[in-house]
Amino acid sequence: MPALRRDDLAAMDRDDPLAYLRGQFDLPDGLIYLDGNSLGPMPKAVPARLDEVVGRQWRQDLIQSWNRHGWMYLPTRLGDRIAPLIGAAAGEVVVADSTSVNLFKLLTAALRLYPDRRVIVSQAGNFPTDNYVAQGVIDFLGQGHELRLVTGDDVISAIDGDVALVALTQVDYRSGHLQDLGEVTAAAHDGGALMLWDLCHSAGALPVDLNGAGADFAVGCTYKYLNGGPGAPAFLYVARRWQDDLRQPLSGWLGHAEPFAFEAGYRPAEGIGRTLCGTPAILSMSVLDAALDVFDDVAMADLREKSLALTDCFIRLMTQECGGFGFELATPRQAERRGSQVSWRHQNGYPIMQALIADGVIGDFRSPDILRFGFAPLYLRFVDVWDAVAVIREVMDSGRWDRPDFRRRAAVT
Ligand SMILES: *Cc1c(COP(=O)(O)O)cnc(C)c1O
Repeated sequence: MPALRRDDLAAMDRDDPLAYLRGQFDLPDGLIYLDGNSLGPMPKAVPARLDEVVGRQWRQDLIQSWNRHGWMYLPTRLGDRIAPLIGAAAGEVVVADSTSVNLFKLLTAALRLYPDRRVIVSQAGNFPTDNYVAQGVIDFLGQGHELRLVTGDDVISAIDGDVALVALTQVDYRSGHLQDLGEVTAAAHDGGALMLWDLCHSAGALPVDLNGAGADFAVGCTYKYLNGGPGAPAFLYVARRWQDDLRQPLSGWLGHAEPFAFEAGYRPAEGIGRTLCGTPAILSMSVLDAALDVFDDVAMADLREKSLALTDCFIRLMTQECGGFGFELATPRQAERRGSQVSWRHQNGYPIMQALIADGVIGDFRSPDILRFGFAPLYLRFVDVWDAVAVIREVMDSGRWDRPDFRRRAAVT
């Protein structure tokens, strides 16, 4: 393969049909932001929306805003906006709480649906909160359930007749490995188990087809590729066929059939509404509502195509420019097997990442040795890939990363 030059990447930017979307984000000057998989940047529409919600709706219309400005319907309305991005139908998704809390609700509800089976299958390398919450659910139910953790990516062979639920993250947060949603869901169902997907690293980055795969449940966060802002509320999905039987444990008043009847006993709402618990975070949800406008005219297939082209360029350029520095690719080379990030192992990963951040290339570090670079196709340019690799090369060539202050660990890595 001929060496790539910066001009080649500039030409790819000129041909990029999604290039116009970058203008919808307020990106700080002088940064190459490769961490949109952890916290998406701010869409330009956000400050005006916050002004409107704080300055007019809250300040002036006060309590009447619950009706007048539809605050009450934000969880379901935002769910309906996210649904097409993840292959769900209207009425199958709500925005509420955090991913961790939604996992608690849905894992518990799923185990209650299949009381004769006692095993949850997940991966040892799953995002910690997913497995921590599964352990908490098992303690909470006190019925002798078991969390069966698979090492590596082959979960299918761990599915047997004891398994009630397979609970996986579609894109591994460390390696960027992408599970085959259709194949794993089919294997779970063939084994008589339910399937729950965590879409934290896929929603907004690649096409997801929950209904096409026949998935039962899903959760995901909105502050990564959906750019909903720090701590933005999460989403959850329940396939229509399970909604009438679903019993989730956080039976708060907003999941009641008639919250404002103030009845003495709990009666779950019809449909997806029963997954709600308490009062929605209106400011955060309003920001997310504005942020989702960016996706209005975007085909997820086009986003995926650009995402794979970006990650492919990054892998090629790192091999071409930084081949001798000891970086080891931790992400699948095969395009269909990876999400929208590229990770490299390096024994000095932590100080190298701090040096890159000091030089304006923002990625992150995941223990024990992973440098993680996210390629959000909505706003990254191909020349950003070139420029980031040039900085990595400079930092390695000069040995600039090898400083005591770059080795000091911060609370958030
Ligand atoms: C980011 C992420 C979470 C985050 O959960 P919170 O409850 O929002 O803190 C959960 N699971 C996965 C796979 C993630 O990537």
